[in-house]
Amino acid sequence: ASIDIVSKQELPKIKLFDTYRRGIYEFQPLSDKQVTLYACGPTVYDFAHIGNLRNYFFVDTLQRVLTLNNYNVKHVMNITDVGHLTSDADNGEDKMLKGARKRGQSAWDIAKFFEDAFMRDLALLAIKTPTVICRATEHIDEQITYICALEDQGFTYKTADGIYFDTLKLDSYGHLARLDIAGLQAGKRVSIAQKKNITDFALWKFSVQENDSSERQMQWQSPWGLGFPGWHIECSAMSEKYLGAAFDIHVGGEDHIPVHHSNEIAQCEGRHGKQPANFWMHGYFLQMGDEKISKSGRSLLLTQLQEQGYEALAFRYLLLTSHYRSKLRFSLKALDSATIALKRIRNLMAQWPEGGQVNAQAQQRFLSFVNDDLKMPQAVAVLWSVAKSDLKNADKKATLLYFDEVFALSLDIPSKEATKASTKNIPSEVLALAEQRLQARENHNWVESDALRAAILALGFSIKDSAQGYSLEAYIC
Ligand code: AMP
Ligand code: ZN
Repeated sequence: ASIDIVSKQELPKIKLFDTYRRGIYEFQPLSDKQVTLYACGPTVYDFAHIGNLRNYFFVDTLQRVLTLNNYNVKHVMNITDVGHLTSDADNGEDKMLKGARKRGQSAWDIAKFFEDAFMRDLALLAIKTPTVICRATEHIDEQITYICALEDQGFTYKTADGIYFDTLKLDSYGHLARLDIAGLQAGKRVSIAQKKNITDFALWKFSVQENDSSERQMQWQSPWGLGFPGWHIECSAMSEKYLGAAFDIHVGGEDHIPVHHSNEIAQCEGRHGKQPANFWMHGYFLQMGDEKISKSGRSLLLTQLQEQGYEALAFRYLLLTSHYRSKLRFSLKALDSATIALKRIRNLMAQWPEGGQVNAQAQQRFLSFVNDDLKMPQAVAVLWSVAKSDLKNADKKATLLYFDEVFALSLDIPSKEATKASTKNIPSEVLALAEQRLQARENHNWVESDALRAAILALGFSIKDSAQGYSLEAYIC
């Protein structure tokens, strides 16, 4: 990486928001050599939607920023392929079985199918593959060992349907989410079956239950008989296996704060007396209107956007324009603007010569934003200010390519239209008018846009708008 221009001492300090402490703190890894990062991965019973992908884009951005700061990142992500029930209250169906029934295949087959589809989505969005990808079903022994340790330490109890964690055995349960335990206990309206406390959760579920015995496809022998692990134990067991009982950063979606991550923390506190991560970071949701995008409700896939002619990286550009700790409303209009912006910057880059140098001042400005809790919208603004600056074009190009190590927008790939235009020898005045029209459209200046179309026509070319921006063709009478 071109980071050698800035020595490590000159790098702005990395500051990150920690949900556990509810504030922004300077990031110092536990070891000089490596940053240890655990990310909760997908439940592979259906396709990942663009909301899920926002979450993995956020983890990818974090990893890229750490890498740009000369850290070697060990990034571990789990694949949930068993034990995630449709209800957070530990009842309902296993999502894997639900997905299997819906598609008329085995739970094992759909796990493989949707994991593969997920990995393809990550590649489309230029999300780096984690260092370690670990499946819950391949770590059953580790989970059983973990539960046995919790049992020995007196944190568990048995009910008719499983082994549960007694959350009130910990003074600090729910600190991450600032849960009001007394209020929750007093206000419990829903049946909590045989659980002692409303916040208790399953560590192990028994297979033989009503509505389950005949359908259960994923089950294992354990000290408590045939069954399967609860959802939360997999992350505690696998993060410990690959990163140790204490690591640097734990990430996931905002919905994990009150249940999944609170329970991961409880398990680790039960076993080791302290919570595992120095930083807990959460990506906020992608919405459509006021509704969150979800697998069971309103869903939209990256491949569906591609079918409509959008480029996956235009979606990545759109994601870069909002901070990970704010909700983002998705719309095709916003994606259109992202598409146009990406095309413009690539076309500019295509005209600039190679051989320049990264501009140190711009680099510092960029780093001061990305190192400040991943302020990506401001970093994108630095990209445009460099593009519009009076730096030498070759230096602009080198600088933006350096930024692209984090943006990962393939800025050096000229967009399709640019290639088409150059091979067809479209006169520069026509291209200039087309660019002006693009700008006018971006500013929603439709009158000017129409006038420019007329001017382009007058020079013998027709212009068509497309997802990537525009295309020009000689007008044949
Ligand atoms: P799942 O596969 O349902 O377990 O979800 C995978 C990840 O996507 C989790 O970290 C969720 O928090 C996250 N997630 C789910 N829905 C959204 C959404 N609409 N926007 C952003 N992240 C989401
Ligand atoms: Zn997890």
